[in-house]
Amino acid sequence: MKLVPLRIIVCVKQVPDVDEIRIDKENETLVTENVHKVLNSDDTNALEEALKIKDMYEDTQVTAVTMGPPEAKDMLLECLALGADDAVLITDNILEDSDTLVTAEVLSAAIRKIGGYDLILTGRQATGGDTAQVGPQLAEKLQISQLTVVLNLKIENDMKTIIAMIESESKYKTVKLQMPCLLTAVKELNEPRSMSLRGILGAKKKEIKVWSVKDIGVSPDAVGSKASPTKVVRTFVPLHNKNCKFIRAETETEAAQMLLKEVQGKYIIR
Ligand code: FAD
Repeated sequence: MKLVPLRIIVCVKQVPDVDEIRIDKENETLVTENVHKVLNSDDTNALEEALKIKDMYEDTQVTAVTMGPPEAKDMLLECLALGADDAVLITDNILEDSDTLVTAEVLSAAIRKIGGYDLILTGRQATGGDTAQVGPQLAEKLQISQLTVVLNLKIENDMKTIIAMIESESKYKTVKLQMPCLLTAVKELNEPRSMSLRGILGAKKKEIKVWSVKDIGVSPDAVGSKASPTKVVRTFVPLHNKNCKFIRAETETEAAQMLLKEVQGKYIIR
C-alpha cells in the first residue's frame, strides 16, 4: 500500500541568545542590542520531531514558517540545513508591536496560503515573550485539535492518528487524536540533531518564500499595536528577598512548632 505523504508545518521563532541578554536595571528593560539571535530552543525540538517523522516516511514534506524581521532568513536557512524541505518568512514593517494574538493570526493566514497540512508543530514557548500562547491561539484560529507539552509521539499505521504522551498537572497522559492537529513541543520530546556539511550545502538550493502582510491576505488594520489586545503597562525586574533562617531545636516536634510560629508571623499561613 502506498502511504499518502504527510505535510508538516513547523513554526519557528528567532530569539535573542539568553546567555547574552543583559538587564538594564535603571530603565528596567532587557538589552538585546548586539545579541546573537538563535532558533528558539523548544522550536529545535519541534523541528527535530518533524524530521524524525520524515526519516521514517521519506515522502513527508516539512515546511518551516516564521514571522519576523528579514534577518530571520538566517534561522530559516539553519532549518533547511537541518532537513526542512522549504521555508516561509512573513516579514513586514507594519508587523512591529504585534502581540501573540496577532502573531497567531498572521501565522494562520500564512498556513492557509501554504495549503493542506496534516500536522503543525510549534515550541511550547519562546524565549523572551515566554507566554506559551502562540501554539494554542494558532490551533484556535485554524479550528484544529491541539495538544500542549508533548513528551512523546507516534503516528499510527493509518497515517491519520497520533498517539502522544503529554504532561498535565503532574500526571502523564496518553492521548489519541486525529490529524490535522497542532502539537507544542518541549525539550524532553527528543534530542535535536546537528547540522551536517551536506545539509548546509544543500540548504542554499532550497526555497525560502518571503511574504508580506498583503501577500497573505491580512488587512494592515489587523496587525501591529492597534490590533493587539495586549498592552504592556510596565516592565520591571522582580526583587527577590532571599533571607534564609535555620531552625535549630532539640526535637522534631519543637522544630515544627518553631517553624509554624515563624510562617504564621509572616502571614504565610494563619
Ligand atoms: P510563545 O507563545 O511562548 O511561543 C510559542 C511557540 O509559538 C514558539 O515556540 C514558536 O513555535 C511559535 N511562535 C511564536 N512566535 C512566532 C513567530 N513570530 N513566528 C513563528 N512561530 C512563532 N516581538 C517582536 O519581535 N517585535 C515587536 O515589535 C513586538 N511587539 C510586541 C508588542 C506587544 C504589545 C507585545 C505583547 C508583544 C510584542 N512582541 C514583539 C512580542 C511578540 O508578540 C511575541 O514574541 C510573539 O507573539 C511570540 O510570543 P511569545 O514569545 O510569548 O511566544
